[in-house]
Amino acid sequence: MSEMIACARCGADTDPNTAVYSADGMLCAGCEDADVTNELWKSATQKLVGAAAGSVLFGVGSLFINPCFFLTGASLASGIGVLTSMARHPEYRQQLGGKAPLIMGVAILGILCAAGVQLLRVFALAALATLR
Ligand SMILES: [Zn+2]
Repeated sequence: MSEMIACARCGADTDPNTAVYSADGMLCAGCEDADVTNELWKSATQKLVGAAAGSVLFGVGSLFINPCFFLTGASLASGIGVLTSMARHPEYRQQLGGKAPLIMGVAILGILCAAGVQLLRVFALAALATLR
């Protein structure tokens, strides 16, 4: 029978055979699970931030080049995807902390850019039509 050790994080008695080494010391299975989950959310959150930035880039880019409304669609899909992901999963807001409103704002900006470019296009066409 092996002697129990205390988990470095939660202090629970842990069998050294099932404990996991980490930067903090020996962790119990529960804390190791929490660590792994946290890492997964961290990388998911990095992708979310990338999608928010991509939404703005696609939205602005659609002003210049927009074959088959590809960039408009990409911008709207990224921006809306970021907002719905953040609404459905509080984990994203936890990971982002104080930056959560900023990232939501960036996603909304991307959607507005994409929609605004298309509105401008409609107005421009309407203006041309009335001038003729
Ligand atoms: Zn623990």
